[in-house]
Amino acid sequence: MSLRARLVLAAAYLLVVVVIALEFPLAVNIERRAQSEFRSTVLGYAGVTASQIADQVGRITQAEAAGGSGSDQDRASVDRVVSAYATQSGARVVVVDASGRVISDSTGEAAPGTLYETPERPEFQQAISTGQPSFDVRPSETLGQDLLVVVVPIMDGSTVVGAVRFSAPLGTITHRVHVAWIGLVLIGLAVIAAGLALAWVLATSLAKPVHRLEHTAEEFGSGNLRARASPDGPAEVAALATSFNRMADAVGSSIESQRDFVANASHQLRTPLTGMRLRLEAIEQEGGPAAEDARKALAEVDRLSALVDDLLELTRASLAATTGAAVDLSRVAADAVERWWTQAGEAGVELRLDAGTRRTVLADAKDLGQVLDNLLENAIKYSPGGSRVVVRTLDESAHVVLTVADDGPGIPEAERERLFERFFRGSTGRRGGPGTGLGLAIVEELVTRWGGTVRLAPSAPGAGATFEVSFPALGSAASAPNAPRDTGADGRQTSERPAPVPAPTDS
Ligand code: ADP
Repeated sequence: MSLRARLVLAAAYLLVVVVIALEFPLAVNIERRAQSEFRSTVLGYAGVTASQIADQVGRITQAEAAGGSGSDQDRASVDRVVSAYATQSGARVVVVDASGRVISDSTGEAAPGTLYETPERPEFQQAISTGQPSFDVRPSETLGQDLLVVVVPIMDGSTVVGAVRFSAPLGTITHRVHVAWIGLVLIGLAVIAAGLALAWVLATSLAKPVHRLEHTAEEFGSGNLRARASPDGPAEVAALATSFNRMADAVGSSIESQRDFVANASHQLRTPLTGMRLRLEAIEQEGGPAAEDARKALAEVDRLSALVDDLLELTRASLAATTGAAVDLSRVAADAVERWWTQAGEAGVELRLDAGTRRTVLADAKDLGQVLDNLLENAIKYSPGGSRVVVRTLDESAHVVLTVADDGPGIPEAERERLFERFFRGSTGRRGGPGTGLGLAIVEELVTRWGGTVRLAPSAPGAGATFEVSFPALGSAASAPNAPRDTGADGRQTSERPAPVPAPTDS
């Protein structure tokens, strides 16, 4: 996981914990306060109602005790008060006398005289017997929501003459609480989002110098020994960048002195080798018994010269790329085929070119020519007479691919992994005569120098070898000012005949 992702995750964890720790108690508090406010309001209504109807209920209770039913005027007066407060509070209001019989019901469901103080309604019992108000919250099946039930005794002096019950649905209150909760959740989410945005900005400012350092290390690793990190950002990262630069200085100068040594040694070897060759040629020309030995020694000098040349080339190839230019790979392929035409003919190998229209890559034309020279040299050298070598360029979306395919002996499975190692010579190479084992190593250096890759394409045993080089494409146009010479009707360049001007081979 990236540094930025870790920092943002840590911030997210902290923010979520803090928001929950703050908002959860607040949410519980909001619910409690809403319920207690509602209870006080309903209790207030019940108290006022009880005091306003106390006289009437007292008289009705007395009349009932004497066997009557109280005056209609009192009952009507109770009904009026009950219905007024029921409308104001939105609750159902039931008034009972001291024996628990209904005097008035705001909904009219319970008829006057009905015994209402039953075991299912214990709240009346408590209010009438203790003279204290009672509260209860219970679910109502008919309304499908909770009800707040408040019962207040009706006092005539110090005597309990009845009770009034307010049952108010808690729906509106619950709705209000839920709205408040949603508000809290939204505020919490906004705080988390703002915190995360801030964390992202901070994490980015921390991660950027680390990424820059990583990029420099990659650049250094891919051969640019001059790549250095800028020591900015947080103190720890700046210190790391400074240490990296010190290490890069040490490693860079060590690698450079090694390269210089190899380059100088190879260069210095050239002059004595030329001198040796001249002397051996002279001995060979003199004839006599020493001539044969001189010829053999000349072959060794040739090998040594080839090795010195390849070492120099490898040193050059492993230097970081300077500035490249747009190079048409199809054109480079056509030129290489032209260069190798004569040599291929002499070896009895048919050389074909299958290069399409312009395929542009950012590179150095000389480097690409060298890549093709090494691949073609191998293909021609290791393929028996009568076989065919095909050079092809293709467009593969963002890449331009160059392949050199032969139908020679191919590469044994066991050797494929080591093919690009320096000084590695395979069984075919050893059978095929002199060689340095550096050709493919040079190819790999030159290709990676320009951001490309080279690989041996999979093939069946004995079905030849196909080397595939791929570069990021700069863009390909259907036609170009320097379009290849032999362009077929389909726009593909084909060549099956000797090039018009045979170029001298430089192998
Ligand atoms: P060299 O050709 O001097 O031996 P290279 O690095 O060019 O060195 O090649 C390494 C080995 O890869 C060769 O020795 C040979 O065994 C094998 N090889 C390279 N190209 C081919 C090819 N076209 N067909 C068969 N074998 C090949």
